[in-house]
Amino acid sequence: MPRQLFVTTALPYANGNFHIGHIMEYIQADIWVRYQRMMGNAVHFVCADDCHGAPIMIAAEKAGKTPQQFVADIAAGRKPYLDGFHIGFDNWHSTDGVENHELAQAIYIDLKANGLITTRVIAQFFDTEKNMFLPDRFIKGECPKCGAKDQYGDNCEECGAVYSPTELKNPYSALSGVTPVLRDSEHYFFKLSDPRCVAFLEKWTQGSNSQGQAHLQGEVYNKIKEWLLPDAEGKRDLGDWDISRDAPYFGIEIPDAPGKYFYVWLDAPIGYLASLKNRFIKLAGDVTLGAHNYDAFLADPATEQYHFIGKDIITFHTLFWPAMLHFSGRKTPNAIFVHGFLTVNSEKMSKSRGTGLDPLKYLSLGMNPEWLRYYLATKLTSRNEDVEFSPEDFMARVNSDLVGKYINIASRAAGFLAKRFGGQLGAISDDGTALLTQIQIERTSIEQLYEAREFAKALRETMLLADRVNEYVDANKPWELAKQADMETRLHDVCTVCIESFRALTAYLKPVLPQLATQVEAFLKIEPLSFASVSQPLGAGHAIGNYQHLMQRVDIKQLEALFEPAAPVEPSQTAIESIAPGGETLAPVIGIDDFSKIDLRIARIVNCEAVAGSTKLLRLTLDVGEATTRNVFSGIASSYQPEQLIGKLTVMVANLAPRKMKFGISEGMVLAASHADEKATPGIYVLEPFAGAQPGMRVH
Ligand SMILES: [Zn+2]
Repeated sequence: MPRQLFVTTALPYANGNFHIGHIMEYIQADIWVRYQRMMGNAVHFVCADDCHGAPIMIAAEKAGKTPQQFVADIAAGRKPYLDGFHIGFDNWHSTDGVENHELAQAIYIDLKANGLITTRVIAQFFDTEKNMFLPDRFIKGECPKCGAKDQYGDNCEECGAVYSPTELKNPYSALSGVTPVLRDSEHYFFKLSDPRCVAFLEKWTQGSNSQGQAHLQGEVYNKIKEWLLPDAEGKRDLGDWDISRDAPYFGIEIPDAPGKYFYVWLDAPIGYLASLKNRFIKLAGDVTLGAHNYDAFLADPATEQYHFIGKDIITFHTLFWPAMLHFSGRKTPNAIFVHGFLTVNSEKMSKSRGTGLDPLKYLSLGMNPEWLRYYLATKLTSRNEDVEFSPEDFMARVNSDLVGKYINIASRAAGFLAKRFGGQLGAISDDGTALLTQIQIERTSIEQLYEAREFAKALRETMLLADRVNEYVDANKPWELAKQADMETRLHDVCTVCIESFRALTAYLKPVLPQLATQVEAFLKIEPLSFASVSQPLGAGHAIGNYQHLMQRVDIKQLEALFEPAAPVEPSQTAIESIAPGGETLAPVIGIDDFSKIDLRIARIVNCEAVAGSTKLLRLTLDVGEATTRNVFSGIASSYQPEQLIGKLTVMVANLAPRKMKFGISEGMVLAASHADEKATPGIYVLEPFAGAQPGMRVH
């Protein structure tokens, strides 16, 4: 029976772009999800932007936007990262979506009906200069547990303690810098100290799921039992949880409590459910039917629910979240998978701080996203431990292991098969069969390692198998066999073993390297690889396609450029050659004299029309400040309707020799940007000057 899974990653806070720490978590979860699908299991893999809370409200105000517009703009920037690193979420939603408003209020009402909500007047920090209650994230001070300085008002990034802001030592307002004063306000609390909650959590945190797997990793349980279990004097750290905030607040209103909103951490994890529900509604194409299917899915005992998170948000996910779900009568997670931080060159990366390795810069340098996926996978284990990105190690693992050991197996054999055997596989003799059997036998072990999120071990086992194949190649030397007339059959045999081995290894690597696997499937002319397909060889007579280069090696200059500070540097010719921004390498360096030969002018598009008989061209009539207008043909019809361009300013090459074309004479050229690979990255973009430029002005 295929399993049915609901998998999430932590919701990123919508006040900034992704950093490499987010990307690592998404890659970890994506590998696991792809593995599950290769096993034939059904997965809903969802995430959402975490949109609420005072920090976003304040950032939006600074940016002169509504909070809704602010988070929409952040959401619009997510796609290049996710697509860029081949992270295949099935749905990306928002905690400000209607599903989340409804679910958060419903869960609250259920908790209240269960007697687990209480109110109490508390003294809270008030910023007299800003005239507002200070949100936790805008009060800073020293951690009451470990004394770490500059910690936020809700939890400590050093020791992970969760506390209320009034417990901070030496507090100050991060908005104005003043020492805040205490004022009274009525707050709503989730009664985690209720004996029912304590009893449930003591049991759940030590429990295991239907797969026999613990809800929590051992080291995670050890961490949270500090809060959960009573100390020698019978006292517990786990207190009631303050879930309300006073207006002004960007969030979800608490039912029947005017001016009170849910604290962002109450509705953020509910965003997992909201995104899932939103996916079901989209799949059904109907709100009522989608909601019904969502309810049925979560009510099904066979449904497994997993959350990938970072170690900085353990308390919320291992205590508050399961208790919220359980006592509102909902399904609890099957397990929480906690990972450590990513350190880049030994510098710590956390949710709120730090960059170090800019993911978009990585992509813009033409670096292969699957290098990063592979490298991180060689570091990821099932444990909550930090992962170190070291450039030297990155280069060694990709170049020596991935390209040197694995890719080379195909490149060494494919040429002979194409040239000597019409691309067809041949018969395999006993030694080759033994090698293939050895590879197949490891399948169960590698599957189990992926299932257990032991990606580093799965890849180590796979690379050990690649070593066996390379030993076989070195022992049989196909390049020597090719020179001997009577060794034709043996050459065919050896090359066939290489291709069959390569196919099996590709299946083992496919969760980590999905794009490469797709290329290999095309090259081998085979159906999408699954783990089961490892045991089904292609067999003699199967014809493979022509081998095309599958993966480049990392160039040290790319890594240098990646970690180079943003300041402009003297371009060296070699550095430029290795980088391909926009899909093409930069043209050779020219001097200012060469540039000044090109006369660029501001032009007004006074008319624009389709060209009968051409799907590519538009005919532009341009005013360049001369006595007459110019007629220019431009290959931009795929991206613009003629009426979109009329009246706009653009930039043209004004001294280009007139060109006679099929449709008339073109008197110049309009500047437009496009990616070298128009299929993969479609779109052509006409340049437009900033306001103030006039037709005829020269562009220098
Ligand atoms: Zn601390």
